[in-house]
Amino acid sequence: MHIRDKYIDRVTYKDTDQISNEEQFKRANEFFQQLPDIDLQAEKIRCPKCNQLHKVYCLKCGELLVDKQSIPKIELPLNLLILHHDKEKHQKSSAIPAKFLSAQVEVKDFPCDFEFDEYTYVLYPHQNAKYIKDLSLEEIQSIKKFVAIDCTWHQTGAILETIQKKYPNQKYLKLEDYQTYFWRYQHHSLKCLATIEAIYYCYQEYSKAMKQNKDYCNLLFFYKYTFQQIKEALKKEAGNSNVYEKIDQKKQRRLNSKLNAKKEKQFLKLI
Ligand SMILES: [Zn+2]
Repeated sequence: MHIRDKYIDRVTYKDTDQISNEEQFKRANEFFQQLPDIDLQAEKIRCPKCNQLHKVYCLKCGELLVDKQSIPKIELPLNLLILHHDKEKHQKSSAIPAKFLSAQVEVKDFPCDFEFDEYTYVLYPHQNAKYIKDLSLEEIQSIKKFVAIDCTWHQTGAILETIQKKYPNQKYLKLEDYQTYFWRYQHHSLKCLATIEAIYYCYQEYSKAMKQNKDYCNLLFFYKYTFQQIKEALKKEAGNSNVYEKIDQKKQRRLNSKLNAKKEKQFLKLI
């Protein structure tokens, strides 16, 4: 048994049907279209710390490389700690860029010291997790901090184990039923959200429960930006402006079992 299976709430977290990468890309495209388009400086900029060229930010050094005015500023109702497993590169994280958007976001590389109090809630579908809607108003009002666990599915066990040892009565929150819009199907389940999606839905649910009804969709700003970049790359690869057409062609070729294995590999690399 994998260590994480000791903790996870299997009933809530059961698998959904698998879908193809192309279908998932289409779902993602529809979802991201609802969010405002992002126009950021297109050229790469040299990171002052590592001297490498990057667009928008260097996650390795934690440097924002564009003008702060060109990205949204988010006032969160509660602080957020992102516990990031150090075996995972920062560059792969969907959540870490949130620190550029809000001063209330802190990122720590696990293993690390952390202090939780009884008003700290860890966002994870733990066996003991509760839905925000099932907490009393008093409990909801008492929350001081959310903690998001940011790592691959396989690394969550180590973080959960450490929390369990340090705080056996730790409170956990689980989210209502959502599906991921990460653009490539991730083999586990559509219910496996990207960390930034989980963070976004958590604040949406909290806001609703507090009857503030604020929209925190700007938390998805860099998530959408990454999707836009991938879509652009696909367009270039396709040599035409219709990304849907490209995907459909790809699908058709697969159906006809004529897909060249090498091209497939390149396509998967792009998305
Ligand atoms: Zn750098």
